[in-house]
Amino acid sequence: PFKQRLLVVANRLPVSAVRKGEASWQLDVSAGGLVSALLGVTEFETRWIGWAGVNVPDEIGQKSLTESLAEKRCVPVFLDEDLVNLYYNGYCNNILWPLFHYLGLPQEDWLATICSFESQFEAYKKANQMFADVVNEHYQEGDIVWCHDYHLMFLPKCLKEANPNMKVGWFLHTPFPSSEIHRTMPSRSELLTAVLAADLVGFHTYDYARHFMSACTRILGLEGTPEGVEDQGRLIRVAAFPIGIDSDRFTRAIQLPQVKNHIKEFQERFAGRKVMLGVDRLDMIKGIPQKLLAFEKFLEDNPNWRDKVVLLQIAVPTRTDVPEYQKLTCQVHEIVGRINGKFGTLTTVPIHHLDRSLDFHALCALYAITDVALITSLRDGMNLVSYEFVACQASKKGVLILSEFAGAAQSLGAGALLVNPWNVTEVASSISYALNMPSDEREKRHNHNYMHVTTHTSQEWAETFVRFVELNDTVVEAEL
Ligand code: UDP
Repeated sequence: PFKQRLLVVANRLPVSAVRKGEASWQLDVSAGGLVSALLGVTEFETRWIGWAGVNVPDEIGQKSLTESLAEKRCVPVFLDEDLVNLYYNGYCNNILWPLFHYLGLPQEDWLATICSFESQFEAYKKANQMFADVVNEHYQEGDIVWCHDYHLMFLPKCLKEANPNMKVGWFLHTPFPSSEIHRTMPSRSELLTAVLAADLVGFHTYDYARHFMSACTRILGLEGTPEGVEDQGRLIRVAAFPIGIDSDRFTRAIQLPQVKNHIKEFQERFAGRKVMLGVDRLDMIKGIPQKLLAFEKFLEDNPNWRDKVVLLQIAVPTRTDVPEYQKLTCQVHEIVGRINGKFGTLTTVPIHHLDRSLDFHALCALYAITDVALITSLRDGMNLVSYEFVACQASKKGVLILSEFAGAAQSLGAGALLVNPWNVTEVASSISYALNMPSDEREKRHNHNYMHVTTHTSQEWAETFVRFVELNDTVVEAEL
């Protein structure tokens, strides 16, 4: 039977390559959100195009890696070290990432950032063209090309220049900021125009889509319609496609013997105390210091809870070579130390802070034994941790405290306790409210969340998006 071919283009392939010899490679598949989303979608024949995360300067290496990756239906884009530095570390992570999350330019070296802006932007365009070249090599007529994220905003334009008939969708996994923020970008118009070459432009939430449309209206003077943006008679569809998780993967995991063992172990370890959980990459956008300050305030205001609650904070290291992130790590350690020093006893501390990741089974067990999950992102495209927590809570029916600035707040809504992470007093009283919540309210909220998370899955998300890319032509024709 015919299967729609789908070329998924993302900065990183879902596989990490480690070189073991001149022509031999070890490939580790990472089970990130996008991968499990598309693994679950059997109606497409999917191929992945992206960077393998390694510098491969030599021909033998490139050839052998290409062959190894082909077995995983992956096609590598080879970026050299200088380009990665300017395009990825520079333009993507020092400029687009902070701006899209309303953080402004990195405080440490913003002058240097402005000075190197031009060269970084050139590298960004060059890298996007390299991705496009690989797509063009592998493209067959009728393929759908799905471009992912802020790394590849120029890709739709590069692709359509080579082949105007190609069906191209672009999806952003971060927030799209207010047009007032986007306006400050030196490359504001070029970025928008490049994205608008796509047939379909997708975001996690309606708000992000609206921000994008206002930016197109205000910066490019284009007309927005309920369907999208109009440019010289062409309609570019703009819509919200909130991502989900592969909830079965989590509900199944909870039943595994090794996860049950972990659960038992944790329950014994924390017996007599309520468990609160935070799981975040150690990134400025996650609001970890704000979370800790709120927890401190809660302990101050509620002396009776001091020996009855523990906060487990899993802080997964990220971009550890960047000064801003090193500073954040120190700041977090300092606050944790202060709080544990103030409220700890000889045998217990209120915060267990880990600078590392957990394996999948341990993570699921932690989600399952948690009484209150505390997610205080200052901005977050969606936040999948909140969904994963809900998926693992079928028996516990714990409470989710969730930042209103996470995309997930818009989809879960009433099920979670929504907070403004900047308001430490509000978050502290939400912690108190959550810990004291009567079981009928807990159940009601949990059921609402659980229903959402198990029905709005990542598979459904991927199918819907791709169908919309296909749909584009027919609907536009029908309108003509
Ligand atoms: N995660 C992980 N190992 C850990 C902690 C978290 O693999 O030790 C995963 C987690 O299961 C989730 C992802 O990291 O799928 C984080 O996604 P989220 O959308 O919450 O935030 P992001 O890191 O993408 O900003």
